[in-house]
Amino acid sequence: MARIIDGKALAAETTGKVAHHARDLSEKGIVPGLAVVLVGEDPASQVYVGAKSKRAKECGFHSVQHDLAADTPENELLELIARLNADPAIHGILVQLPLPEQIDPDRVIQAIAPKKDVDGFHYMNVGMVATGSAGRAFVPCTPAGAMLMIERELGSDLSGKNAVVIGRSNIVGKPMASLLLAANATVTIAHSRTGDLPTLARSADILVAAVGRPEMVRGDWIKPGATVIDVGINRIDAPERGEGKTRLVGDVAYAEAERVAGAITPVPGGVGPMTIAMLMANTLASACRAAGMPAPR
Ligand code: NDP
Repeated sequence: MARIIDGKALAAETTGKVAHHARDLSEKGIVPGLAVVLVGEDPASQVYVGAKSKRAKECGFHSVQHDLAADTPENELLELIARLNADPAIHGILVQLPLPEQIDPDRVIQAIAPKKDVDGFHYMNVGMVATGSAGRAFVPCTPAGAMLMIERELGSDLSGKNAVVIGRSNIVGKPMASLLLAANATVTIAHSRTGDLPTLARSADILVAAVGRPEMVRGDWIKPGATVIDVGINRIDAPERGEGKTRLVGDVAYAEAERVAGAITPVPGGVGPMTIAMLMANTLASACRAAGMPAPR
């Protein structure tokens, strides 16, 4: 049976280290500040934003949340971002996506100062990650968390390893591939137009699934002993739990995969918890950089 890569434990360890460094910084008079902006009342977004603000407080950060009405005009949101860009108490700005349709998400993300873009979505950060300068950039939180899990399992040099990333989104698949490439893996990115995905997946020593299709990756897609990172979070009906009940599953058929893989992340409790932990790490790094200090690893 595969080793389970425990995302909850690694996330707790990561946030514990962040809180420790934040205390040290605070003693020098610098309190890391995170501003989280929510526009509208999307229930899932409210949960995510609440969790991020709460975790920031637990890390000892200055944590502010801006809840804007769903009909907020784009220029008002841009004005808020300009104020946060200029506020020295704020080191990280996160605008929760998706945004209501009157607001262009790209214009908003590009308005965030790159040095405060702790989500890592600004072109400046995207470009640095793509050109192998991730150490100076903010890496998007989900692939950063997945990469930390891979490093823990296999070390930081992936020379000679084949990695297959299923999914080519800007927030997960592409930056994940860049990070694996920077760690010397031989990387293939697959997507909905890829032919014979099962055969390609079976070539992977490291298989990352970031698709959004419940249990698409079957056990016989996995090379024996491979490290499997399941980024997918899918809610499916669970009639066995009672009428109207649901449960979360990943993009990997876990029960089949754990019999073949060498190591695997569960869903829930895998990559998910790492995402918020890496947001805290990015905010701490931003505060350190603002103070002219090296960001802790
Ligand atoms: P997107 O919908 O933006 O991208 C999905 C990707 O999967 C696309 O590149 C798409 O290909 C590809 N794809 C879709 N169907 C297939 C298929 N049948 N075969 C091969 N590839 C396919 O999703 P995200 O990247 O934003 O998210 C992916 C998953 O990760 C989701 O389940 C999401 O909930 C989860 N997620 C989890 C996070 C966490 O914190 N753990 C954070 C972010 C996302 P194409 O480009 O050709 O359309």
